[in-house]
Amino acid sequence: MPVPSHCPNAACPSHTNPPVGWFRRFGWYRTLAHGRVQRFRCRSCGRTCSTQTESMHYYAKRHLPLRALARSLLEGASQREIAQHFRVSPMTIQSAMVRLGRQAIATQVILLSYIEPRGRLVFDGLRSFITSQDYPCDLTTLVDATGETILAITHGVFLRGGQMTLKQHLRVEAKQDSWRIPEGTLDGSMSQIWQELWRYLDFDRIRPALVDTDQHPAYRRIVHRSPVYKYLRSRRLMKHRTTSSTAPRTMDNPLFPVNYVDRLIRHRLREHTRETIAFARHSAMQMYRMWVFAWDLNTRRPWRVKKPDQGVHSEQGTVCTTGRRALRRINREFFQRRVDIVGRTVPESLQEAWRGSAVTPPIRWKKGQNGTTVTLPAYAARDLIRGWL
Ligand SMILES: [Zn+2]
Repeated sequence: MPVPSHCPNAACPSHTNPPVGWFRRFGWYRTLAHGRVQRFRCRSCGRTCSTQTESMHYYAKRHLPLRALARSLLEGASQREIAQHFRVSPMTIQSAMVRLGRQAIATQVILLSYIEPRGRLVFDGLRSFITSQDYPCDLTTLVDATGETILAITHGVFLRGGQMTLKQHLRVEAKQDSWRIPEGTLDGSMSQIWQELWRYLDFDRIRPALVDTDQHPAYRRIVHRSPVYKYLRSRRLMKHRTTSSTAPRTMDNPLFPVNYVDRLIRHRLREHTRETIAFARHSAMQMYRMWVFAWDLNTRRPWRVKKPDQGVHSEQGTVCTTGRRALRRINREFFQRRVDIVGRTVPESLQEAWRGSAVTPPIRWKKGQNGTTVTLPAYAARDLIRGWL
C-alpha cells in the first residue's frame, strides 16, 4: 500500500516539495474493495489523504490483479477473453486497462525526461483497424534506431478506400451519413510526430542527424513543408532518408528498428494480429493498450531475444544511467503506485493519449450513435497537470 509522497492540496507547499515527515498518521477506515485504509494528515495545511490517494486502485470499485491483467494483454488475449478469465465484466477490464495505459504513459514521460540526444530515428505507420475494416487506422510510431525504444505513437483513422463490392460501398456511404472523420485526422497524426521528433535528435555530431521513413507520399509532403526541416537541412544538420517498404525486412534495412517493433506489436497485441476478429472498439483504448505494450518493450526488455554481448536494446541504449535507475524504481511499484510526473515535460501526443482524445468512429452507427468518449476522471486530470508544476 503506497504511503503518499506529497500533499494532494495544490495550494500547499508540500504539494511539490514535501519535506521529510510532512504528514502524520490520522486514523484509518475500512472499505469492502480495499480492506483497511490508513489515513494521513498534512502537517502544513491539514489536508487528509490515505494509502488510496496515490494508489493504482484509487476510486476503483474492485481490487483487480493489475499485474496479471497486463500479462494477459501482452500475451495476446483480447479484452473479452481477459474478462471471462477473471470473471468480471468487459467494462471492468476496460477501466483497469485505462489505468494501466495512463500509468504506462506516465512512465514514458519519465523515460523521455532522461533521454540522451539520438543520432538516428526511424518512424513508420502500423496499419490496423478500429471498429471494423471500414475504418483502417495508422498508428505512427517513432523509434530510436540504436535502442529500438518507442519514443512517440500517434493515432490516425481514415476511411476505407480501394476496391469494394456494391454492398460494402453502400454500407460505407450509410456510415458516412451518420458520422464523418474530421478533416486532416490522418495527416495531423503524422505531422505531430514530425513536430515532436526535433527534441530527440542530436545536432552536435559531425554527421547530420538522420531520420528514416518509407516512401509514403504523405511523409515527404509533411516533412518538406516544415520550416524547421528546411532550416536544419540547409545547415546540413539533418537528413531525411527514404527506403521502399517492399525492400527485404532484414537487419540491414534502415527501417529495421521500426519493422522489429511492428512485428512485436502484431505478435503481442491481439487487435493488431493480421485477420483478427478481435477489433478494437475505441481509438482511445487502442492507444492505452499500445502504451502498455510500449512500456513493456521500453522498460522491461533489455535485449531482444538472447542476451547480447553488448547491451543495446531498449532503455539500455537510449536512457542515461540515472534514468534507468528511476525507471527501475517506478517498475518496482508499477502496479501499486501511480507514477508522479511532477515538473516533467509532457509531449502533446502523450497528453492526447492520456486524455483518450483520439478520433474514434461510432460502434453502433445504425442507431445514429455519433462517436463515444472515454471520460477522464478528475484525479487523472490532476495527475496530468502535475507535469506543469
Ligand atoms: Zn498540505
